[in-house]
Amino acid sequence: MNFEPIIGLETHVELLTKSKIFCSCENSFGGEPNSKCCEVCMGHPGALPHLNHEVVLFGAMAGLSFGSEINNYSYMARKNYIYPDLPKAYQITQGEVPLCIGGSVTLKDGRRIRLERIHIEEDAGKLIKKDGEILIDYNRAGVPLIEIVTKPDFATGEEVAEYLTDLALTMKRLGISDCKMQEGSLRCDVNISLKDKVTGKISERVEIKNVNSFSFIKKAIDYEAKRLESMLEEGKEIVRETRRFNSETGVTEAMRGKESASDYRYFTEPDIPSVYISEREISALKEKLPPLPREKKMHYASLGISMEDAFIISKYKALSVYFDSLLSGYGDAVHLSKIILSSAFKFVDEETRENGEILPKASDVLYVLSLMAEGKIEKRFDKKIFDKMFEERKPFTELFNEEDFAPISNDELIKIAENVLIGNEKAISDFLTGKEKAIAPLIGKIMKETKGRADAKKAEEALKEIICSRYKS
Ligand SMILES: [Zn+2]
Repeated sequence: MNFEPIIGLETHVELLTKSKIFCSCENSFGGEPNSKCCEVCMGHPGALPHLNHEVVLFGAMAGLSFGSEINNYSYMARKNYIYPDLPKAYQITQGEVPLCIGGSVTLKDGRRIRLERIHIEEDAGKLIKKDGEILIDYNRAGVPLIEIVTKPDFATGEEVAEYLTDLALTMKRLGISDCKMQEGSLRCDVNISLKDKVTGKISERVEIKNVNSFSFIKKAIDYEAKRLESMLEEGKEIVRETRRFNSETGVTEAMRGKESASDYRYFTEPDIPSVYISEREISALKEKLPPLPREKKMHYASLGISMEDAFIISKYKALSVYFDSLLSGYGDAVHLSKIILSSAFKFVDEETRENGEILPKASDVLYVLSLMAEGKIEKRFDKKIFDKMFEERKPFTELFNEEDFAPISNDELIKIAENVLIGNEKAISDFLTGKEKAIAPLIGKIMKETKGRADAKKAEEALKEIICSRYKS
């Protein structure tokens, strides 16, 4: 490729505040159309908006999680455009001075994606096409949003998908959004342009609107980058436009020419003089900030766990807390991650991994590990033991006897092998004539005799040793 994609992202995240951003209407997904709206969110003339301060706090919390600066004073602005889902004919958003500035996310390959800003704004209503008619549901009008805008720092669709995964996990962990793409509470617009690797010239940029799944975003970007490249190679000029991704055909389609900021006639919202958040509130939010999945992931990876495994464990709130308690009592992080990813993952459901109580308790798992470290039970039984413990949600002592997994001494094994050989002359002579498999049933007998405690390989060795030393003529 002679061109390098330059990609920036605008992500809209619906906030889980109790009420809407400028009125006291209920803020929740769905419901009977137009049942959760009032004069304010329907834009009746003369209705005055009143800013819900919870929206400011949620927005600031999002900013803090990315290391953004929070402006004590920021300002709302009117963005003017006409569309049926926007009854006021303007959207109240933020203009030049947003709530949060800067911040960044570091991807797993170490690349840093810088944030431009995070601002608060209202969502519009929803158009519903039904039986050849277009209906409008204003329940979503006035639902609070934050828009997170990155610098054009992405080079591939894969990086965008990684960033979005992190963003959604972070918002969920903060408890400020459920980030359900299928319900529209996380929506993305992608800006993409191409830079000529030789001349450094950057093309006009194209925007892809409202792609509604992570995998589609990657596909849309890959498709668009290829499309733009072939245009440039054919000597065609790229025009600034807005496109949509058709998930059925896998191609992007032109929607309209892209408006520039001046088309929207932004001006300061006269009904809301300013947005204020105090230093005290910001400090309180900082203190409340939970450990973020991205920080946990990096921490686990620094202990030797693979990035993929670290990601899976850090993704779930309850599971990562559980894992932290295991780590505090046992030094082998990689061994612990294997236990979690095999046994716990098989039996602990998704909901419990996120919010539930994971059983057996971490101390019960640590107890088994200490028995193994002391050599009282054999390490090779760990999968069997932990599977059962996570399946039954019970401690080791309620499920097993320590003796069931105690190592068998060599002397003990030899004695058992000797007994098993008695009366099995046929198997012995077959073995001596070269039929190695003839002793397989005898190994089975030893396993049965020891209730599975014996190591099959050692049992086989013991049998061979006795046969060769005592039965060989
Ligand atoms: Zn309302």
